[in-house]
Amino acid sequence: DLEYDFKKPDGSNVRLRVFEKLVYDELGRFNGGLGICTDITAQFESKQELIESEERLQNLIGNIPDIIFTYSNDGVVLDAHIGDQKFLKNVSGSFLGQSLFDLVPAQQKEQTQFSFNLARKTEQIQTVDLSIGDRYESQYFEVRFFPLDANHMMSIAKDITSQRIWEKGLVEAMNSADQASRAKSEFLANMSHEIRTPMNGLLGIIDLLDQTQLDSEQQQYLEIIKNSGNSLLSIIKDILDYSKIEAGKIELNTHVFCPADELNKQVQIFYGLAQKKGVILETSFDPRTQELMEGDVEKINQVILNLVGNAVKFTSKDGIVAVRLEMETISGDINFLRCTIRDSGIGIPAEEIPRLTDPFYQVESSSSRSYQGSGLGLAIAKKVVELMGGELTISSELGKGSVFKFSVILKKATEKDPILPSSEKHIRTSWNGMSTEFPARILLAEDNDLNLQLMTLMLGQLGYEFELARNGQEAVEHVRRQEFDIILMDVQMPVLNGLQAAIEIRKLGKKGEVFIIGLSANVFDEDHKKALDAGMDSYLNKPIRLNTLAEKIRDYSLKLSSK
Ligand code: ADP
Repeated sequence: DLEYDFKKPDGSNVRLRVFEKLVYDELGRFNGGLGICTDITAQFESKQELIESEERLQNLIGNIPDIIFTYSNDGVVLDAHIGDQKFLKNVSGSFLGQSLFDLVPAQQKEQTQFSFNLARKTEQIQTVDLSIGDRYESQYFEVRFFPLDANHMMSIAKDITSQRIWEKGLVEAMNSADQASRAKSEFLANMSHEIRTPMNGLLGIIDLLDQTQLDSEQQQYLEIIKNSGNSLLSIIKDILDYSKIEAGKIELNTHVFCPADELNKQVQIFYGLAQKKGVILETSFDPRTQELMEGDVEKINQVILNLVGNAVKFTSKDGIVAVRLEMETISGDINFLRCTIRDSGIGIPAEEIPRLTDPFYQVESSSSRSYQGSGLGLAIAKKVVELMGGELTISSELGKGSVFKFSVILKKATEKDPILPSSEKHIRTSWNGMSTEFPARILLAEDNDLNLQLMTLMLGQLGYEFELARNGQEAVEHVRRQEFDIILMDVQMPVLNGLQAAIEIRKLGKKGEVFIIGLSANVFDEDHKKALDAGMDSYLNKPIRLNTLAEKIRDYSLKLSSK
C-alpha cells in the first residue's frame, strides 16, 4: 500500500494510492500481481492543508509570549504552553495533572475559582489579576478564562509585571507631587496665618488711634497707614484663600438667597467708584434670578465682586460696564446661574487670556503698573467657580473691552425665607460710651501679652471693664466664682485651651450659660467648626477690628436684654 505522485500524459499532477497484491502459486513461486490504483489527489490536498494549518497554529502558539493552559472542566491542567520559561520562575515543577486551584497562591484561590466557574457557566471571558511570588519580588499576571468546548476550559495569562511597576511608579510620583503641592499650600496658609497675628496688633492700634484727637496732618498720615494696612490684609487674605483652595481645605457653606438681590448689592458697592471715573455701571436680570436658590452665596459674591471690580478698574471715562444675570434649569431643581460681566475697557491681548487665571499673573502692559492688585483675584475666582460645578470663561479684544462669564450650579430653595449671611450692618464710626448703651459683664481669656494689650485698649475704648484669665483653666475658675455675660476666649492657650475651657464651662449649669466668643488667628473653616462644636457661640478671626468687636458685643448685649 503506497502513495506516489504521477504525471498524467496531459501534464497535470495527481496523487495516487496504489494497492498491490502479489500472487504466488502453491509451490511458492511468484506468478503475477494485482494492483488497484486510486486517484486521491483531493483527499491528499485537504489533508496537506490540515497539516499546514496545524503547523501554523503550533507556530502561532509557540510564538505567543503568553501562558496558555487547557483544563478539564474541574480545573485539572491538561496542557500548558509557556511562552517564556522566565515568566513562571516563581512556580516550580510540572503543572500537568495538577489542579489550577492548588497552583495559585492560597489567598487568591477563591477569586480564581469564582472566575473559572463563572466563565464556564456564562461562556464569557472572565479576567482575574494574580500575583505570584514573595513580597520582595512579585510577578503579576492578567489571566483570562474561557470555555474551549463542552469539556475543556482554557486560560491565557499575560505578564503585566512591568505595567504594574510602571503604574505604581506613576501613582507614587503623583502622590508625591500632590503632597508637595499640598505642603506648599499649607506652608502658604500657615505663613499668612503667622503674618495675621502681628497684623492684628498693627491694625487694632490704627483703629484705636483713629478714635483719638488728631490734627489734620496726623489724620492724613494715619489714613495712609490705614489704607496700606488694609490692602496688605486683603492681599494676605487672597493668598490664604488661594492656598486654602489648593490645599483642598475649602468647603461650601450653603445658604438660601435671591441671586438678583445679591448681585444688586455687590454691584452697588462700585456705584461710587464708577461715578467718580465717569463709567456707566448697569445691571440686568432674567426674571428667574429672583427665585430663591441654595448655594454658597458668599463665594458667589466674592467672584462677582472681583469681576465687577476688575471691569470698573480697567474701564475709563465714558466706558460701560454691563452685568447680566441669567438662570437656566439643568434638570429638576438643579439650575445653572450664569453671570456675564461686559466692559468697554482696555481689553486683553489674546495671547495673555489663557494665563490670566494663573496666580499672581498680571498683564504686562505699559499701563498695568498704574493699576493696583495682586493678580490673585481671577485665580481664586476660577477655582471657586469650579468648586461650585461651573466654569469661568474670558474673551476680550485689545482696546475694545472684555467679557467675563461664569456659571455655578445652584439648587432651587425649599425653605420659604432667605437666610442671608450677615449683610448691610450699619457702620458706626464712634463707639465711645458704648458700654452704657449696651452693658455687659465681660471675661477676657488671653495669654499673649501683645494681644492682651490690644484687647485692653479696645475694650477700654468701648468703655468696658473686664476680668482677665491667663489660660483656659483660669477662665473656668473665674466662671465658677462669678457670673459673666460674655467671654472673649482666645483659642490657643496653655494649660487648658479655649476649646477645652468652653467644654468645661458648658458643664457648669446656670453660670455656664454665658456667650462665648472664640478669638483665633486660625482661619480654616474646620477651626471655626471646632469652636462651635466645643460649645462656643461665635468666633472672631484675628486681626480683630474695633468695629467687629463692638458689633459682636452689641449683638450679644441685645440678646441678653431680650432674654
Ligand atoms: P488683580 O486685578 O488683583 O491684578 P486679577 O487676577 O483679578 O488680579 O486680574 C489679573 C489681571 O488680569 C489684571 O492685572 C489685568 O491685567 C487683567 N484683567 C482682569 N480683568 C480685566 C478687565 N476687565 N479688563 C482688562 N484686563 C483685565
